[in-house]
Amino acid sequence: MTISSSTNGKKHSELSDAQLLRYSRHIMLPVMDIDGQTALWHARVLIIGVGGLGCSAAQYLVAAGVGQITLVDDDVVELNNLQRQVLHTEERVGLAKTQSAKLALSQINTDVTINTITQRLDDAALLEAVTQHDIVLDCTDNLSSRQGINQACFTAKTPLVSGAAIRFEGQVSTYTMQPNTPCYACVSGLFAQPNLTCSEAGILSPIVGMVGCIQAIEAIKCIASIGELLSGKLLIIDGLSMTFNTLAIKPNPTCGVCQD
Ligand SMILES: [Zn+2]
Repeated sequence: MTISSSTNGKKHSELSDAQLLRYSRHIMLPVMDIDGQTALWHARVLIIGVGGLGCSAAQYLVAAGVGQITLVDDDVVELNNLQRQVLHTEERVGLAKTQSAKLALSQINTDVTINTITQRLDDAALLEAVTQHDIVLDCTDNLSSRQGINQACFTAKTPLVSGAAIRFEGQVSTYTMQPNTPCYACVSGLFAQPNLTCSEAGILSPIVGMVGCIQAIEAIKCIASIGELLSGKLLIIDGLSMTFNTLAIKPNPTCGVCQD
């Protein structure tokens, strides 16, 4: 493959020769090309929650060549996390999840800058963190965190890729925070039993992997401005029947976040 010819009169790549080789399978995708890969390289992604969803999404975003990733989590690795949180290891039980994940991610791609925030962010700190990034992945497991992240993303107008998984089911949507599109609060009532967490209801291990991968795909598409986002749509996955359904979702006129 001749990479240099693919610039076709576009500006010369800001990527090094090693990066052009490393990401060649991305760059050969016509819609991605060097421009898409360069956009990934300049992107700053905030991943909130380094459990099952965050581990899954982060490893692909790091491998894919996102330039900067910030991991937020105040938990430590526990034995019962290892069933699905694939960046953590037996020997790192007891270590902060952010540190454990950073160790694993650094081995995948040393080019990527990986920042860690090992504390629960209050509203002001959350808004500041969101403002400093280009896109946010909500990989948390509880409604109050999700509502706070949605509010911060709406205020900052930062796109939010929201994932959730419980039992054999997963859900993903992307909230671009643009006019006439729904926010998480518009549709959170559609989420079944939002107060249940995996520790209470159980979760099939690869379901979180699948949902995290879909979040990573949405983030890459959003950063590279390619394809069609899950904006105004809620993807619902049922792993038991292996069915994927997409619901159209609209702004809720009475939403307390995005409506006047
Ligand atoms: Zn709303």
